[in-house]
This record gives sequence, C-alpha cells and structure tokens, in this order.
Amino acid sequence: MCGYNVGSDPNASPESILRQFEHGLRDVGDVRLLKVYTSGSFLDECEVPLEASRKMLLHCRDKNVRLLFESRPEYVSPKRLDELMAIHDDIEVALGLESSNDRILKYSINKGFKAEDYEKAARLLAEKGLDVRTYVLLKPPFITESEAISDSISTVKFAAKMSDTVSLNPVNVQRGTLVEKLWRNWAYRPPWLWSVLEVLRATTDTDVKMLCEPTGGGRERGAHNCGECDDVILHSLKSYSLSQDPAKLGSPDCECKEVWETILDVEGFVVGGTCDLQRFFRKH
Ligand SMILES: [Zn+2]
Repeated sequence: MCGYNVGSDPNASPESILRQFEHGLRDVGDVRLLKVYTSGSFLDECEVPLEASRKMLLHCRDKNVRLLFESRPEYVSPKRLDELMAIHDDIEVALGLESSNDRILKYSINKGFKAEDYEKAARLLAEKGLDVRTYVLLKPPFITESEAISDSISTVKFAAKMSDTVSLNPVNVQRGTLVEKLWRNWAYRPPWLWSVLEVLRATTDTDVKMLCEPTGGGRERGAHNCGECDDVILHSLKSYSLSQDPAKLGSPDCECKEVWETILDVEGFVVGGTCDLQRFFRKH
C-alpha cells in the first residue's frame, strides 16, 4: 500500500538533504515542535547520513525545539540513541507498527518485522526517556472490513501500553502499489469512515493521545463513506484529534450506515473478499 518508493531518490546527498531541511525551515517560523518526515527511517544512516542528522539535531538544540522523526524499529539501538541524545534529548520517535498481528504484518503488509521487534524498540525509547508515537494502519489488503476494525482496535490497545501518542492511519490507494492494482480490479475498497469512528470509539478508554486525519479522506482513494456524510465525520476526526474529547466524534444520521453494517455482516461469506460493488455498479 505504500507508494513512497516511487518518489524517493536513492542518490540524494547529505548536502541536498540539508538544503531541503533549510528550505523547509524558511516557511516554518517560530515553532516548538519540528517534524522531519523522511517517510522512512531517520535513524538509517543510508537514508539520512550522520552528518545531516547531526546538523538537524544541532538546529533543534539551538532553537530549543522538539524533534519528531520516524524510524523502523531495527534502527533503534542504544548506541544510536545515545549518539543523538548527546546532542539533543527533546525527541519524539514515530514507529510504524501498523498491526500487532504477526500474520497481518507478514501477509497483508509485508512489513519485514514482528510485533515483538516494535515492542523492543518502543521499550528502549521509553527507557531512554523519549516519547513514542505509533502508527496503526486501518485496513491493509486481504482482510475484510470487519477484520480490519478488530485488528486496529487490538493494535491500538497493544500500542497504547508503550506509546504517548497513537495515530490511526486508514489506508489510501497510492500510485504504483499492489493495493492500487487490487482497487482497479474492484478487489479492494479503502476503509469506511464508519470503521474509523468505530475504532476510535472502542479505544477511548486507553490513556494515550489519539490522532486521526485520513489522507485522501472523503475521496475514492481514501477512507470514505457515501459522499453525503463524509465531511461531517472528517471534521469531527479533526476536532477529536485536537481535543481528545470522545463527544466530538461525529455520528451523522446517514443511510449509508446501513450499507456499511450489512457489509460487516456478509463480507466474510463473499468469495473473493473485499469487493467494492458500489463503485462497480455506479453510473459512469
Ligand atoms: Zn453517508
């Protein structure tokens, strides 16, 4: 489902990475938190050379800014963390766990690590006093809508024990991916916004900050409902992420909720799995 490889340049030099960093800073202004998203692993020296990451950390130290970056768990080592923290220790690390189910990690996501690898990295970060943000993926391919909801609920609960923040990320159909191929063949539908609400409502009792702002939300390639109720729900997700108040989660009265409930009931019995019949039969 991840199409970032299409847009990445393996020849980016440390100088060009720093130029991008400085270019980005120009419009940022005075901030207390700086996200440096490589859409990969900031701690991987092949991706962000030491010299570049050092300069970014120095910048954050001098400006007294918290740095947030992403990494796969295998790059989170005591040695690497000590190196960073010798420069600057106000750091939050985002880990893409996606699912706490090893079968889903292996067969639906091809993630290349197990839940226990994530757990080890998250515990090490906490030991070092760094904040952990965990990404949970809603509805990778080859599972039904109902299985996707259950998987995300158990993953959020699992991750909440080791995280300060959990971000629920519904799958969106990115270019050049297997998910796009399935989607074009009517064999994949991004999650319903009803499912997003369901996962968030079922996890309000975890004492972790929940974030959810679906990429491409309300569109065919992103988490969506019928088109009538999407905006209200997307707006409510934003308010919930900001306030953490479950009362902000939208519950519009819309006919499509019945369709979604029916799909949850019957999809497991359909041979071929998650077809998107509504899109197939719509008027072109
Ligand atoms: Zn609707």
